[in-house]
Parts: sequence; C-alpha cells; structure tokens
Amino acid sequence: MFSGDTSAGPRPKAKNTIVEMDGDEMTRVIWAMVKAELIEPFVELKLERYDLHVKERDRTDDAVTVQAAEAIRRHGVGVKCATITPDTARVEEYKLKKAWPSPNATIRAILDGTVFRKPLLVRNVPPTVRNWVKPIVIGRHAYGDIYKSAEMRIPGPGRVDMVYTPAGGGAPQSLVVFDFKSPGIVRGVHNVESSIRSFARTCITFALEERMDLWFSAKDTIAKIYHGTFREIFRQETEARRVDFQKAGIQYIYMLIDDAVARVVRHPGGFLWACMNYDGDVMSDMVASGFGSLGLMTSVLVSPDGPYEFEAAHGTVTKHFRKHERGESTSTNSTATIFAWTGAIAKRGELDGTPELTQIARALEASVLETIESGTMTKDLASIADPAPPSHVTTQGFIEAIAARLRSKLATPRRMPAAAPR
Ligand code: NAP
Ligand code: MG
Repeated sequence: MFSGDTSAGPRPKAKNTIVEMDGDEMTRVIWAMVKAELIEPFVELKLERYDLHVKERDRTDDAVTVQAAEAIRRHGVGVKCATITPDTARVEEYKLKKAWPSPNATIRAILDGTVFRKPLLVRNVPPTVRNWVKPIVIGRHAYGDIYKSAEMRIPGPGRVDMVYTPAGGGAPQSLVVFDFKSPGIVRGVHNVESSIRSFARTCITFALEERMDLWFSAKDTIAKIYHGTFREIFRQETEARRVDFQKAGIQYIYMLIDDAVARVVRHPGGFLWACMNYDGDVMSDMVASGFGSLGLMTSVLVSPDGPYEFEAAHGTVTKHFRKHERGESTSTNSTATIFAWTGAIAKRGELDGTPELTQIARALEASVLETIESGTMTKDLASIADPAPPSHVTTQGFIEAIAARLRSKLATPRRMPAAAPR
C-alpha cells in the first residue's frame, strides 16, 4: 500500500532483472522521456540494457538483437522500444551494411512466442466500431504459413509435385499439386505440430488469466489437413483444460474464419481471438483501427516456457521524428510505450512476489487513462475524442501531465479500512 509521497521517499525496489531494449526514431525520444519522468523517479528497477538502434544492430552484425532475445529467455521479462526494420531506403539513409531482418521476427523466432495485441479503452475516445465496448485481443501464431514458405514461378506447361522423403529412409510420398498448361505460380507452406500446440496452450493460459472467451477460427472446410490440424489441436488442448474453463466461467468457441469476421464487428468484445499467422497479421490491423488509434494498442509476446516481452504495437512514428529533427514541436502518443513498461514492471512484481511493484505499475496505468479522460491528450486522440478537447498537448506535455497525476495519486494516503467489528 502506498503512503506519503513515494516519488520523494523510498521507491519500491525490483528483486530481479528486466531486459530493456532501446530502439529508433520518435519512439527512442519517447523512451528516454518515459524513463526519466515516469519510471526512474517512482521505482528502482534492475535493468539489463540492449541498444537495438539500427546503427548498433549494424555495428554488431545484428548480434545485439540475438543477445537481447537470449537475455529475455534468461531473465523472463523484457520491454522493447519500436525499431526500424530496414528496407533499401533505410540501408541508404543509415549507410547500413545490409537490410538486417526485423528484430521482432528474430526475437519471436528465438522465444517461439505468441503475440497478443490488446487495445486500451478510454471513455472519451469512442471506438470506430461503435459496439466494441470491451477489448478484442488478437493472439497471433507467429510461426510458419506464408511467412516461411517456398515459392516458385512456373514458366510454362509442366507438372508440380509435392514430395515427402522420410529422413530415416522408406518410401517417399508424393502428390500432384497442379498440372500447368500455361505459366503460373506455386507456393508450399508448412507448420509443425509442436508449434501449433504451444500456440494453443499459450492462448488458453492467456484466456484463463484474463477470463476471456477464447475463439479460434480457420477454414478447415477447405484446408482439411492443414487448417483441420490446427482445429484438432485446439480441440484437444481446450478439452484437456475443460475444468479450468468452467471454473473461470469462460468458453472455447471454434468457428470458420469468415463467420468469425462477420461476428466480430457485431460483437461487444471482451474475448481473445486466436488467429493463424496471416489472419493475425491482417486482423490485428483491422482491430487496431476499429478501436481508434495505434497509440492505444499494446502488444505482448508470450513464450510457451515462460518469458514475456512487452512493447507498443506501433512503429517508430517516422513522420513525427522528422518534425522533431527539424526542431518542430510534436504531439506523439506515448500511451502504448508506457503500458509496455508497466506490463513488464507488473509482471516482474508478479513473478518475484513483490506486489508493491505491481501496484506502482497499476497506479501509473491509471494515471495515463485518467489524464486522457480528463481531456489532456495528444493530437491522434484529440481528433477522434468525444467530447473533443479544446486543444492537444505536446509529446513532452502529455508525459508531464501523467507524472503530475501519478505524484498526486501517490501523495494521497489511502484511507485505512475500518476495523472489523468484534
Ligand atoms: P508507425 O510508426 O506505426 O506510424 C504510422 C502512423 O501511425 C504515423 O505516421 C502516425 O500517423 C500514426 N501513429 C503511430 N503511432 C503513433 C503514436 N504513438 N502517436 C501518434 N500517432 C501514431 O508505422 P510506419 O510509419 O509504417 O513505420 C515506421 C517505422 O517503424 C518503419 O521503419 C517500420 O519498420 C517500423 N515498425 C516497427 C515496429 C516495431 O518495432 N514493433 C512495428 C511497425 C513498424 P500520422 O503521421 O497521421 O500522425
Ligand atoms: Mg499487419
């Protein structure tokens, strides 16, 4: 329980390490402000810092990204700033040795995780989809499918076969994919049962923790083996946890992906939608824009064997960074970045049995939401808020308003509960 002005007095202290990954552009600017104004004055953390700035990734031949992912594995909790995924224009801009892979993809591959994206709801920022009154969380399987596929251009007539050659010898199995009469294209995709199973388990754990119904959708009427295997594994895994679902008062529902899409827009929300890799990629952007602003979308990567990595769902907000570089004032929303920090701090508190850490994270979260609800907000929200505020604040102004609110929240001693009657 808080008492007195914590920011002036002793700060709650973390027992174990959080892996901090700094990043690029506007989010790097925000990162430093959030740490200085909202984290360091209020809580004493043990941080192991990895700088994932694109130049640093280049200098280390991307080894720093792998080291960061391994550190998350070791310590169990990480918080990441948004980073540039270099393309040819970025290679030119930053004079890079090459277009290094997406750090998020590298970290996901090492942690074998599932990405959950959850929107934050504030009273005065109505969602674009009017009936979404509770969050819709997307759980995206982050392995295989079209992201790890083999593609081929077919120049002219000829047959394409799919062949499986057993590693231990034995007769190969083959299947005709298509007998081309003219030029075309072909793609082979795969997935592995162990990854699908850990995806299902991670989603089940998340749904139980958050007490949200779990939806899984696919197109198993068409892809009877591929999508059918996903459906069957989800059935087995949810069946195995039936008692826990009953205790939590939640349900598992399977539906065809097209049915799910139609239902989502009519639903009030409050569920976890487990999506195959591509569906998750597409649907998470649809859900983010349906809720209003990317600045309110949080993201957490959950690994089946424990580690958690928290981040904002948005990128490095390049357009705002250009203004910042020119010395112009910016109004970039730091909400999702702050929630990445509070997610990591609260998780650390939970894992280490230090509830004062979790409490301070929750107090900071409440301060952010109350600041917005009181009408102090950045431009992205001001343009969609109802009622619209008379003006918007700067990047720095927003963070300062949150710090002031958190300070006064911590300075107001909580009333002691009345003694129980004897
Ligand atoms: P972005 O950084 O998410 O920004 C796209 C637009 O969304 C911005 O121009 C801005 O719109 C709005 N926006 C996003 N976050 C906002 C915030 N916090 N506050 C206010 N407005 C916000 O996406 P991008 O411009 O496509 O990508 C920029 C870089 O980020 C790229 O190099 C990409 O590789 C990288 N990226 C990284 C991650 C990650 O690390 N997780 C994810 C996605 C992209 P207005 O300009 O209209 O104000
Ligand atoms: Mg996408």
